[in-house]
Amino acid sequence: MVTDCLFCKIAANEIPAELVYETERTLAFRDVNPQAPTHVLVITKAHHADAAALAEADEGLADEVVKTAHAVAVREGTAESGYRLVFNTGPAAGQTVPHVHCHVLGGRDLGWPPG
Ligand code: 5GP
Ligand code: ZN
Repeated sequence: MVTDCLFCKIAANEIPAELVYETERTLAFRDVNPQAPTHVLVITKAHHADAAALAEADEGLADEVVKTAHAVAVREGTAESGYRLVFNTGPAAGQTVPHVHCHVLGGRDLGWPPG
């Protein structure tokens, strides 16, 4: 755990979040500022800064994050109509929390390209 990391604190139950799904190494909870009817964040319980770090992390962890994201979409009822997975990575992408998280967005027509 990284002491000053917001999502490490959520993973450690030190900051409350509305959990929707959990696996051994991942956690899914609702975004506090939702941009769609379904807006869930999937994080790794262990600290990894971003998608680049996740790609180099433990065997199968990136796979587990995507599988958790899909399980969330199924549970939220958006798997058939469609959903979007987003990893904002670095400043140009607008990443604001430096602990890897996959946005699961769905429940409306999301449009493309994103605004
Ligand atoms: P980023 O911009 O880094 O890709 O996304 C960070 C996301 O975390 C934002 O969508 C923001 O609304 C969400 N967020 C920030 N602080 C909290 C929090 O304390 N709890 C929850 N559940 N979401 C948060
Ligand atoms: Zn962290």
